[in-house]
Amino acid sequence: MKTILKTDITVKDICEGFVYNELEGKGLFGLSGKLIIQPPYQRNFIYAEAGKEAAVIESILKEYPIGLIYFNKVGKDKFEVLDGQQRITSIGRFIAGKFAIQDENGMPQNFSGLAREKRAKIENTKLTIYECEGEETDIMNWFETINIVGIPLNDQEKSNAVYYGPFVTLAKEEFSNNQNSNIQKWNAYIKGSANRQDFLHAALDWVSRGNIREYMSKHRKDENIKELKTYFNSVIDWVSNVFTDVENEMRGLEWGRLYETYHKKSYDPKKISAEVHKLYADSYIKNRKGIFEYILGGSTDTKLLEVRVFDDATKKATYATQTALAEKKHISNCPLCAVGRDANKDRIWKLDEMDADHVAAWSKGGKTSAKNCQMLCKTHNRAKGNR
Ligand SMILES: [Zn+2]
Repeated sequence: MKTILKTDITVKDICEGFVYNELEGKGLFGLSGKLIIQPPYQRNFIYAEAGKEAAVIESILKEYPIGLIYFNKVGKDKFEVLDGQQRITSIGRFIAGKFAIQDENGMPQNFSGLAREKRAKIENTKLTIYECEGEETDIMNWFETINIVGIPLNDQEKSNAVYYGPFVTLAKEEFSNNQNSNIQKWNAYIKGSANRQDFLHAALDWVSRGNIREYMSKHRKDENIKELKTYFNSVIDWVSNVFTDVENEMRGLEWGRLYETYHKKSYDPKKISAEVHKLYADSYIKNRKGIFEYILGGSTDTKLLEVRVFDDATKKATYATQTALAEKKHISNCPLCAVGRDANKDRIWKLDEMDADHVAAWSKGGKTSAKNCQMLCKTHNRAKGNR
């Protein structure tokens, strides 16, 4: 890879012919049309939502360096921004009057409202730019190793860069586009934002069963995203049909895995809804996120719910009562050992060798109160818990 350092390109040069696409939220061209600001492998413009674009302008006014910018030379007088897209878009958007900065008095000022010398200062600022030229694979490998100032690339953004091509372009149009009206629905089940590729990440994760990079590599040259889209929509439709109520705890669950495991079973959405409500009202359940898989699996695996356990005082008191009685009768203080036939039938276990158990199971309505507590040796407690 060949690199040339350029220190004579000014903000004004870069912003010559700057085009900002309002709909897609990205800077497209600059440098009189010679520069592609957002080539397909780049991530979306996120400085505006991260509140960082004003900081870029303030840095320039204070003469703070805004860091190195890298161009990929793709032809004679043709460049793509390899690193610096966020900063260049911020500068271009400011000069185009898209946002304001605060002046010394805390008043918002857009570019045209600034004093002439301040405008000149911004426009005449020289940027430090490396022009890189080399094999695509070289450039991409290197791109993967650099981090954009302040906000590192996340895994999905890196994968998009490494496997860029028609498939990623189409996938981003569907899953990374803030204007997509489905996003509100997806938000109920997936955590994150379109700009940071969280929906695309989920879609790829689900269809590939977790092998995202393998899948992206295999489909890199595809001219359609049919399978990706169909599978994603199947998962979303399935969840929203089975669980008719939208609960906060549904966001970010492993819906792809749950779909694979349970989508061939039939469910009655009305009964499911009633059960969700019942479990949400149960104060003994510590892990509400587990409610959905618990129900899908036939309401048997109570481990998923992390049902509240007995407190130490209750355990100690129950242990003392049980042990005193057992010593009198010369039997084990574990009631299950006591009725057994092996060497443990008269064994007195220490407190730390025992665990608390619900006499009446929680799933059958048993409460987490002293009355419903018994101490069992660890072996018997484990055996009972697995039933
Ligand atoms: Zn026992």
